[in-house]
Amino acid sequence: MNVPFLDLKAQHDPIRDEVHAALEQVIEQNAFAGGPYVEAFEQEFARYCHTADAIGVGSGTEAIWLALLALGIGPGDEVITVPNTFIATAEAISFTGAKPVFVDVSEETYNMDPRFLEEAITSRTRAIVPVHLYGQTADMSSILEIASARKIPVVEDAAQAHGATCDGRPAGSMGVAGCFSFYPGKNLGAWGEAGAVVTDDSKLAETVRKLRDHGQPTKSLHDVVGWNSRMDGMQGAVLRVKLARLDDGNRARGSVASRYSEAFAARPEIGAPMNASDAGHVYHLYVVRVQDRDRAQKALTSQGVGCGIHYPVPVHLQPAYRELGHPEGSFPVAERCAQEILSLPMYPELREEQVDYVVGQLLAAINAEENETMTAR
Ligand SMILES: *Cc1c(COP(=O)(O)O)cnc(C)c1O
Repeated sequence: MNVPFLDLKAQHDPIRDEVHAALEQVIEQNAFAGGPYVEAFEQEFARYCHTADAIGVGSGTEAIWLALLALGIGPGDEVITVPNTFIATAEAISFTGAKPVFVDVSEETYNMDPRFLEEAITSRTRAIVPVHLYGQTADMSSILEIASARKIPVVEDAAQAHGATCDGRPAGSMGVAGCFSFYPGKNLGAWGEAGAVVTDDSKLAETVRKLRDHGQPTKSLHDVVGWNSRMDGMQGAVLRVKLARLDDGNRARGSVASRYSEAFAARPEIGAPMNASDAGHVYHLYVVRVQDRDRAQKALTSQGVGCGIHYPVPVHLQPAYRELGHPEGSFPVAERCAQEILSLPMYPELREEQVDYVVGQLLAAINAEENETMTAR
């Protein structure tokens, strides 16, 4: 059997006609850059996130960058995030001119460990960017408590957490701003690149809206030096069709995750993900921990199971961030996790027999490994 890591075709085949009709409308109206379909999506997505506003932008990376710029962050400032994230989180901080400062993560959730947050805060800290990794929100109540005591804004990187909740509150709605990516493989994915900032702060929304469109509040008047980060009209149209199916998709991901986790429950050698956010996990990725990860991955690949590693090298150890001067051992939890994590196939369209096949192959790989260790003894 073949189980690909991701199967966008399976997701798109059932909605193809509907999306094509939506794209036809965009073409009919020449609404290619921003425009009515982006505006309609913005309203629908803001409602979905329980925020007053949503601003469509070019990508998730730009969403984080523009949100930080709108907060006035720049050279000389420090912005706190985690080292085990997609590099975009740190890049967005760097492109404001600020310095990324890392806080290690929790062994259980892979998200920012609030116990380490306080000691990372300095007089230069201007924002905290927790990442809701794999579809589970960070411990927002603790993070917000620490941040608000010092009046430091919290900007959520919710690029992997569309529809996730924390104590009933939607991802993206808890901090001063929430940043989303609609990269095709995300829980809500465009047919191209797109992102959004959501916020309840009308001034912040206005600034982000201005920055994404050359700093112009009205046509041909440029208040500030901005950028071109308008959302593509076609992406707005696609995202509207797909947003209507997001909750169903997230529920299906939850069922896949339960099936995996039940199968792994009796096997302590396989560290299944912990759902700390009280059922608020939307399983963008289903990540297990195994001792000999590289071997397990090889075994699965050879049996037709696609897997991934998110992420094999923590950001502080990437060559691009060498100048920050964090040697190996600086963030031990993130580094240890990077050695042992393995992302199994996860998408709403996964069939039960496919999940069972993945489970069977992973258990077989682990058993083979154990037998060998026994023989070697
Ligand atoms: C995907 C992702 C981003 C960046 O989004 P793009 O749309 O690819 O620019 C940022 N942060 C995290 C955690 C992501 O997974």
